Amino acid sequence: MPTYDYLCSACGHRFEEMQAMSADPLKKCPSCKKQKLERLIGAGAGVIFKGSGFYQTDYKNAGSSSSGGGCQPTCGTSDAPAGCKMGKKG
Ligand SMILES: [Zn+2]
Repeated sequence: MPTYDYLCSACGHRFEEMQAMSADPLKKCPSCKKQKLERLIGAGAGVIFKGSGFYQTDYKNAGSSSSGGGCQPTCGTSDAPAGCKMGKKG
């Protein structure tokens, strides 16, 4: 079952409630007992579009033997391409 974030517009009380998707949204605030609850849709969802999800594969020169490595400065992360030889040499 998904959890929903609720925010009371009367007292500001915020909490999560586990509900079935077919369940009616809550209205009554458990803190101030007023019918002022609002369900926060998507606000607490773990959808984060930060980070480099769209980097291009622009290391075309990999395999060039001139400078050795052909490695981009962004290498060194765990997502480095398999051919990346950044770090210790030899
Ligand atoms: Zn309240």
